[in-house]
Amino acid sequence: MTTEAKWQRFMELAGELSDLSRAAAVLGWDQQTYMPPGGGEARAQQRATLQRVIHERLTGAEVGELLADLEAQGAAGDDPFRKAVLRETRRMYDQAVKIPADLAAEFVRVTSVAMNAWARAREEGDFDLFRPHLERIVELTCERADALGYTTDRYDALLDLYEPGATRDEVNRIFDGLRGTLIPLLHELLPKLGEVDDGPFRRELARESQMAFVNEVIAQIGFDYNRGRMDLSAHPFTISFSPNDVRLTTRIDPNDLRMALYSAIHEAGHGMYEQGIPARWERTPVGAVPSLGLHESQSRMWENVIGRSREFWAFFLPKLRQAFPGEFDGVDVDAVYRAVNRVEPSYIRTEADEVTYNLHIMIRYELEQALVDGSLAVADLPGAWDAKMEEYLTVRPRSVREGVLQDVHWSMGSIGYFPTYSLGTILAVQLFEAACKEHPEIPSEIAAGNFEPVRHWMQRNVYDQACLYTPKELLEKVTGTGYDPEPYLAYIKGKYGELYGL
Ligand code: ZN
Repeated sequence: MTTEAKWQRFMELAGELSDLSRAAAVLGWDQQTYMPPGGGEARAQQRATLQRVIHERLTGAEVGELLADLEAQGAAGDDPFRKAVLRETRRMYDQAVKIPADLAAEFVRVTSVAMNAWARAREEGDFDLFRPHLERIVELTCERADALGYTTDRYDALLDLYEPGATRDEVNRIFDGLRGTLIPLLHELLPKLGEVDDGPFRRELARESQMAFVNEVIAQIGFDYNRGRMDLSAHPFTISFSPNDVRLTTRIDPNDLRMALYSAIHEAGHGMYEQGIPARWERTPVGAVPSLGLHESQSRMWENVIGRSREFWAFFLPKLRQAFPGEFDGVDVDAVYRAVNRVEPSYIRTEADEVTYNLHIMIRYELEQALVDGSLAVADLPGAWDAKMEEYLTVRPRSVREGVLQDVHWSMGSIGYFPTYSLGTILAVQLFEAACKEHPEIPSEIAAGNFEPVRHWMQRNVYDQACLYTPKELLEKVTGTGYDPEPYLAYIKGKYGELYGL
């Protein structure tokens, strides 16, 4: 076989693997949106089978031999796309061969059932319904981490699955920076919390009207409904079957529009990134988002830095009034701006304001490390959770529903994932500031309802790169520094200092 013929075969195999993964994603999406509760066991089997087929194909002799051949022959040459194809496949291949097929399938089966158990436990407010599932997930997670291998720290092996190249040391340094500023800031704000009123949003609004307004906002900022759709789920998420078919979900609180609106804007940030991945790289390992921190930078940027700005509401307030006749007549832009930025230490991460959000993440980051290093038993998790909530956020959950059971992630086996939320949150500010530096008109364009300049900058600098570079290389190219909490902390101190008159 010529080298070129080998490339061709290699890319065929990569395309088939991509098809199988996307098909598994469709099953996962359906499970969280439309599947009846009775479908859980069967769906768990189907996903486990598909996962095993993917694992067998990826780790089979053909992929391994072609990969080693193409690498040994230096077949990628100076072609950046081909170099990235080999790098990304090597990464997936090494991860897959290190994890035995049985363990991979068992992990999918256990987490698939656990997700339903979590949903029921959360519904009934009973941690014990979920506890045995989480115990098994922690065991399997440790087995996976040990199989993947690490230099000094088991947690690094897990972190690397979501943020390639990141280490616990590096993430600890970032959290130290956040902790040192955010906790004192929160304590400065505590006596002043009552000064900002979110009354304008505390009113019952029809679900249909909420969804109509949310869809209007999402379309205006640039999510393409010809290549995507929005549904409802218990925990909002985004999933891509193709850059031309990206699914978002949100959830509705009949008494607070902010729930559906900001969940949707958040997911649309993820969705626009997925829709922006160059179509020519579809069905290749390069046509993907390189890390979850990068992914989250887009959702947090649209949700907070843009979606909670005065400029955003200067444009959308008249639309809000049209969508809900009579409900927002007496409210001006400043009142809406204050209402959507109200700080309040709360139980639920997804409803947290920008000041307290990273404290919620810090709690999960610390607890999951303790589960993995064995210093915390799953049975003691609810108590440990409540204690940390009180320490960092000054509130104590009244039930496991608004405490330890609020997030779906651990039921999915996503341990090592949470810190990427904070990485994304700080990167959101870095990227928005980089865009505004090049295009100072971005804020005034947003106030006029034109989101194209900021979207275009993200497209050119971030989306168009897909996985052409490693996350570290891409961050270096775009920010010059990599993850840096300082711009985020300056943004928070400036914004909330002004809002609360500190
Ligand atoms: Zn997100």
